[in-house]
Amino acid sequence: MSHDALKTVFDRIDSLQQQVAEDLSLLVAIPSIAGHAEACRDAAATTAELCTAAGFNAEVWEGPGAPTVFAEIPAPSGRPTVLFYGHYDVQPVEPLEAWTTPPFEPTIRDGALFGRGAGDNKGQFLAHIAAVKALEDTVGCPLGVKLLIEGEEEIGSPHLERLVAANADRLACDVTITADGPYHPDGNPLIIFGVRGLLFMDVAIDGAPHDLHSGSNGGIAPTPARELVGALAAMWNEDGSVAVPGFYDDIVAPTPTEGELAARLPYAQQARPDDAADPSSTAPWHRLMFEPNLNIAGLASGYDGTGVKTVIPHRAGAKIDVRLVVDQDPDKVYASLRRFLEQRGVRVSRRAAVPPSRTPIDTPFSAPVQRAVEASWNIRPWLQPRLGGTTPDFVFTRTLAVPSLLVPYAPADMRHHAADEHLPLEALHRGVRTSAAICLELSALPSP
Ligand SMILES: [Zn+2]
Repeated sequence: MSHDALKTVFDRIDSLQQQVAEDLSLLVAIPSIAGHAEACRDAAATTAELCTAAGFNAEVWEGPGAPTVFAEIPAPSGRPTVLFYGHYDVQPVEPLEAWTTPPFEPTIRDGALFGRGAGDNKGQFLAHIAAVKALEDTVGCPLGVKLLIEGEEEIGSPHLERLVAANADRLACDVTITADGPYHPDGNPLIIFGVRGLLFMDVAIDGAPHDLHSGSNGGIAPTPARELVGALAAMWNEDGSVAVPGFYDDIVAPTPTEGELAARLPYAQQARPDDAADPSSTAPWHRLMFEPNLNIAGLASGYDGTGVKTVIPHRAGAKIDVRLVVDQDPDKVYASLRRFLEQRGVRVSRRAAVPPSRTPIDTPFSAPVQRAVEASWNIRPWLQPRLGGTTPDFVFTRTLAVPSLLVPYAPADMRHHAADEHLPLEALHRGVRTSAAICLELSALPSP
């Protein structure tokens, strides 16, 4: 990447700061809570207009769910194409009284823009659009850029896989980059190379048609609460490992490089970059990145109020989530859990399934993105092999079959999903610089 080109583009980004903050206010003022059709249409239309103003050819794709924005700048001949993914939908805002200023009245105070969606994810995807504008205004966009901004991320992207598969030719690219979620709590930038998957299930046992008097019926009536807790408890061994046959099948061990990076990553500010590495399989990051987790997310049965009520509940239910690691298949894991629980009389139904993803640390796109982040932040990024959480990253690594990197632009304390969500204008500015530097660095790669 030419130092002169970078400086020219960064200078232009400096002069665009006010405009970018105004564009973010425009987006945050739209109450595009996931599932709210009209506001989501507004947010998609406004996003497409911002893309057009930045030099993109932009389209709004209508589908079975919320519309999707697709925008494109074709690649100059022999240059690669990067696809940036983001989402314009936001979380609900209740309780309203917890907000210092109303969630959809964007307000700047203490150097940050406050409002629902400021950091998750409107400010982060706006950084890509503003970066392309700065490139177009100066050196010209040096590579192909595609944007895919969906409107259903906060409800689990139910239509994204089908949409990506159906439009694979339009979305064809060499690498995808997602700016979402927070960077490291210690302030260091992160580059993340994959995510854990998710399986979510409802389970239940039914007994009598209604609750029964435990004195008149105890020892005779069916006991769904007791049976369910017994079946659930049987899913784990005493050491906390999962006892369900087949649960650990297909897990791929981390590579030595992934293990090494995980061991060096500071956890909850207990460790510093230079502290001795802890490569053990019980280290927190190892567990959060390379091991699946089976969790009871909710449990309900019988009387939960104050005082005494001697009933035999007629029903017991639970919600279970599983975080999956490569190369676990959600269908296979679901089949194992379902068989195990049905043998114990439990009804099982699946609510969500997202496969895990993995991009090799040594993908040729890794070094240029590291250089771009360092040039924008003046600090080296942590390389994080996996996100403990889940995003629909598999639609890129599996459906489009390209490397996919996550580079968050928002700080860990941005209050995403909570009241007083905000994005520091400095983080927004740095995000725009990072996206521009990524474009310049990637454009210098040998033609694909
Ligand atoms: Zn979110």
